Amino acid sequence: MSSNLLNLYGLTRAELGSLVSGWEISPVHAARLWRYLYLDGADTLAEMTELPARLRARLEAGTTFGRLAVARETHSGDGFTRKYLLGLADAHRIETVLMRYKGRTTACISSQVGCAMGCVFCATGQMGYTRHLTPAEIVAQAIHVDRVLRHTADEAPALAEGDHSSPHHRHERLRNIVLMGMGEPLHNYDSVMKAVDILCDGAGLGLGAKKITLSTVGVVPGIIRLADERRPIYLAVSLHGATQAERATLVPAARAWPLEMLMEACRYYTDKMERRIFFEWTLIEGKNDGPEQAHAVGSLLKGVPAQVNLIPLNPTAGYGGAPSHQAAARRFQDILAGYSIPSTVRQRRGIDIGAGCGQLAVAEAG
Ligand code: SAH
Ligand code: SF4
Repeated sequence: MSSNLLNLYGLTRAELGSLVSGWEISPVHAARLWRYLYLDGADTLAEMTELPARLRARLEAGTTFGRLAVARETHSGDGFTRKYLLGLADAHRIETVLMRYKGRTTACISSQVGCAMGCVFCATGQMGYTRHLTPAEIVAQAIHVDRVLRHTADEAPALAEGDHSSPHHRHERLRNIVLMGMGEPLHNYDSVMKAVDILCDGAGLGLGAKKITLSTVGVVPGIIRLADERRPIYLAVSLHGATQAERATLVPAARAWPLEMLMEACRYYTDKMERRIFFEWTLIEGKNDGPEQAHAVGSLLKGVPAQVNLIPLNPTAGYGGAPSHQAAARRFQDILAGYSIPSTVRQRRGIDIGAGCGQLAVAEAG
């Protein structure tokens, strides 16, 4: 059921303005349309009663705003995580995760259907690559989560402490995004960055660029481009191995962008952006969680303003490894601390519903 209607969620505010002025309709109405889409969370054109009928007729005939149909919704047992299986217009499906704890709401958003990078322990990698998402499909995931939050203000189990929502917004709004869902965001650079621009537009959802973190497997040209374009979002790089040989067994993309080249790109990024970079390290028992690996990470990251996020391995159907024990994670952290590298161990959330890091996957028809 693919449609060739223009998707409004894929347009920047300037593009929407040109579309409307091309129809010889006043920019005032384009501005109102933008607010309907991003501030009022309008579901249908019929609700947009302040738009002139002529504009609504044009929109009706040639555009859509591509809401994503919820094919399935799952809630974690602890109430903190929700996973949505969302349908795209061409019947492919993606997963988006909403995490709510300690007054913080974060959406984990997908950038592709599947992934071409083939990391051995990742369910998305195990399913292979189908296609890139469009900017509209990326934006629509954030819209979906924002909409869920608007409609669940009263339940808000995790908001008892530190809820800083403004009194003008009775409902909770989406504030943080991690581009850590299905897919490799820097493999789909242009669409992802356009979506980020739309999400950050101050007259719309108004997300802070510093509330968005993009995680990459280590696509070197993309990292350099982020720095050259001075993209203000945060960057996390998936490391997992501190030597080229060890890393390549877990992350096949290391063959295209070897560790030495990757580290050079990371240094270029931190120098140019004058900010630190995050490194992710999936902790696999007996594989990459020993003291020698921790020392190797310490040496590798010498001189790089870095923070390491340790992620105990989450189970996936296609990989047999086990997560490291807490003691091993702590020992890893202590060694990194000896190199003055701060680190955190990511909380295991949503594992019971397959919403943890690297667990997102959908069965593809055919
Ligand atoms: N494609 C991007 C972002 C998505 S994955 C990337 O690879 O960086 C987000 C993080 O989860 C990455 O660091 C990834 O390596 C890690 N990950 C993948 N599978 C995992 C698993 N089974 N358990 C724990 N972390 C995993
Ligand atoms: Fe793709 Fe990231 Fe999964 Fe690797 S970890 S297969 S890059 S989604």
